[in-house]
Amino acid sequence: MKGERGIIPIFIPHMGCGHACIFCNQHTITGDAGQPSPESIHHEIESCLKTMRQPIKELAFYGGSFTGIDERLQIQYLEVAKAFQDAGEIGRIRVSTRPDYIDDAIIERLKNYGVSLVELGCQSFDDRVLSLSKRGHDSLAIDRAVSLLKTHGLAFGVQLMYGLPGDDDTRFLNSVDRAIALAPECVRIYPTLVIRGTELETLESYHAPTLEAATRASAEAVRRFSRAGIDIIRIGLQKTDLIDFDAEVKDGPLHPAFGAWVMSFLFFEALLPEFKRLNPNDRILIRVHPSQASYISGQERINITRFEAALGRGVRFKISADATVRRDEVWGVIDDKTAFHIHIMNPEV
Ligand code: SF4
Repeated sequence: MKGERGIIPIFIPHMGCGHACIFCNQHTITGDAGQPSPESIHHEIESCLKTMRQPIKELAFYGGSFTGIDERLQIQYLEVAKAFQDAGEIGRIRVSTRPDYIDDAIIERLKNYGVSLVELGCQSFDDRVLSLSKRGHDSLAIDRAVSLLKTHGLAFGVQLMYGLPGDDDTRFLNSVDRAIALAPECVRIYPTLVIRGTELETLESYHAPTLEAATRASAEAVRRFSRAGIDIIRIGLQKTDLIDFDAEVKDGPLHPAFGAWVMSFLFFEALLPEFKRLNPNDRILIRVHPSQASYISGQERINITRFEAALGRGVRFKISADATVRRDEVWGVIDDKTAFHIHIMNPEV
């Protein structure tokens, strides 16, 4: 499915939110500049459709809390999306919103306009973390929203953040497990960044997670979600997500390609024990899915450096991108004689 599906992201900043989460700077966006008109959304979708090559095209309203927008404007946006859907130009329509902005009437409206997936900005399932982050809802609100969405047969996704105030690895991974137990269709994972203009920037007691801690915790979350068969649609922030990424990042695990960074770390962690066991002396031939070939060596060959340091010797790598290899699997041969096969998300299997 990945690679065949393209999402047209429509960013609607903070509109309708009414909250001021400690990590969010969208309340600093003022005036109409942050509020796209239905006409501008129409043009944006049209221009995206012209350049998209993926056969499956979806539309997503991201940013603030879609279901909290003034109802008339919400319907105008949805009418634009539905017209493209009715014309067969896009498939699914998804929206993102807060868990406490979901009720029966809202769900019915979304369904009437062809929305088939709601991404819930949960961020954490830990009530203390939610409270310290000034989310304005507790974990019960998440359970309630999911229960309503399930009752109405609407698919849902979950967005989680790592490193919020009061959060730690144990709490974050508990949130991951709570999310898995709800069986969402998809998930997004974000490390917390300290953005200029947020309350988090002024919170002296807060210590942002390091890149290494965020990488390790996110990698473990990816493993758990993958094993549960939950589609991970993003690791790390992008402009169309919860915050205005153009603003200055003051602290936190900022990385220009955090998702790829986490994935290459996962490949390293899964492959190293196998390499140690098979003890290569000369060269390692590897076949991997083309979309994941770069994860073997990592950015700026960091994994090769790590492998060589851990093995105590230099080894030649020959990496072949092979579309017949399934994603998250690696096939290889050590020193032209010993074959191996490993599943990155579940290396013990
Ligand atoms: S993160 Fe979402 S809910 Fe929180 S203030 Fe920003 S837009 Fe509102």
